[in-house]
Amino acid sequence: MPLCCRCHTAQVPTEGDFCASCWESQIAEAMDQEEKERATLRAYTGDQYLTDSWLEDGLSLDAAREIVEDPTYIGNAIEFGLLESVLADKFATAVLRRCLLDRKPRILDALARYVHLKKIRKKAGRKPKGPEPIYVTVYNLRKSGLTFGQIAQRIYRKPSKRNLAAAHYQRAISRGFPPIE
Ligand SMILES: [Zn+2]
Repeated sequence: MPLCCRCHTAQVPTEGDFCASCWESQIAEAMDQEEKERATLRAYTGDQYLTDSWLEDGLSLDAAREIVEDPTYIGNAIEFGLLESVLADKFATAVLRRCLLDRKPRILDALARYVHLKKIRKKAGRKPKGPEPIYVTVYNLRKSGLTFGQIAQRIYRKPSKRNLAAAHYQRAISRGFPPIE
């Protein structure tokens, strides 16, 4: 049997998998990372939050702006409950404002879903963490055929967070969602 690719001691049924206890650590780290991201946004005092995250990755300002000023990117961010992040970025906010004035359907739909999901959350009396648990979002994206890298790109803006996406997927499975082949 292959070994867990994290602790390299426990046996796992398939190559490249984590053992149960490593999945637990991975999930705990994922939640920790999410909390840190929220704290980062709360503590952020600049006016180009999304852009800065790309600058940190080494992109030029022009390249970063090209990404955050893309209405599709902004629509995705809103849908994933990141409206606050968009509003913390002057470049993205300017495009959002323009899209709203032009009544762009993609953005209006994203906002409608955002508000609707918040309402559902309120009714269910869940903690104010996001429109829906991220593991549900990750699971649904996985179901639609995206790779963990693509999911990480859509949710966290960074494909390098694919392990985080994989951890959320695993959390969904551990809560009874059927595994996707
Ligand atoms: Zn392990």
